[in-house]
Amino acid sequence: MKANRVVRVILGLIVLLLFGVYSYFHLSTTPFSRDLDEAYGPVEPAPVQPDELSETLVPEGDAPAATETEVTPEPTPEPTVDPNSPAGRAQALGLPAPPEIDINSWEYILVNKTHEVGADYAPPEVVYVSSSKCPQDSRIADALQSFADGCAAQGLPVYLSSGYRSYNEQSQTFNAKVASVGYDAAAKIVNPPGTSEHQTGLCCDITDIYRNPKDPDVLSQTDTFKWLEAHCTEYGFILRYPNGEVAITDVIYEPWHFRYVGTEAASYIMDNALTLEEFVALYTGEEVPGAETPEA
Ligand SMILES: [Zn+2]
Repeated sequence: MKANRVVRVILGLIVLLLFGVYSYFHLSTTPFSRDLDEAYGPVEPAPVQPDELSETLVPEGDAPAATETEVTPEPTPEPTVDPNSPAGRAQALGLPAPPEIDINSWEYILVNKTHEVGADYAPPEVVYVSSSKCPQDSRIADALQSFADGCAAQGLPVYLSSGYRSYNEQSQTFNAKVASVGYDAAAKIVNPPGTSEHQTGLCCDITDIYRNPKDPDVLSQTDTFKWLEAHCTEYGFILRYPNGEVAITDVIYEPWHFRYVGTEAASYIMDNALTLEEFVALYTGEEVPGAETPEA
């Protein structure tokens, strides 16, 4: 019996010893950590390593790249404008992009001493506009009538003259002038046949009253002209021979000669103080002659 008790006591001691050892190794870290927290504050969560970051973001596609672009944007490439396009030529001159049009359409026919329209050209159909019975290309008849009506609605007198003039009519007028004053002098007064815009039927001389001759100094001061110049683009017309542009147009200032080009082109031309020669050259790339030329 006594030996039995001793064995039990020893077994009990061994169990206690094992428990003590277990407790020491297994639980000692917990109170130690708590001590650290009290001494230095809560332990920060471990920082995410770069490797882990990229691994986390890879499934989201291009997100990291987009963020970089926002922070340091790469230089945006200038929109490529072909220098040999209308927009490119306009840009080189400091002008806004011109309207996208077919410059070979009938509205934009350019007629001058270097762009002869040819003896055979005539409007497809000629109609008479307004009470002054001015012959015009039928395609501009409504626009011209509205233009004249708009002016008249302001209580201003309007007189239309010199619409379509055929090659033969121009020829007769020119030859008569040549017979009286010689070719050079005649060419300064009357356009040689084939070089007058009036052969297109797309222009009209608009004055307040019948005037012959037409004096630029007088006509530029009329209320009728002031209204026509201010409102012509609304009806698709431009002042074809502006003041101070004779080097380009080869025609003196004519504050009466209005040319139809459609509202889009008219606004662009008048807003940018261009001549039809310069406007057409934006599309054709042709050089615009600005050299000394005779007045006509
Ligand atoms: Zn005219």
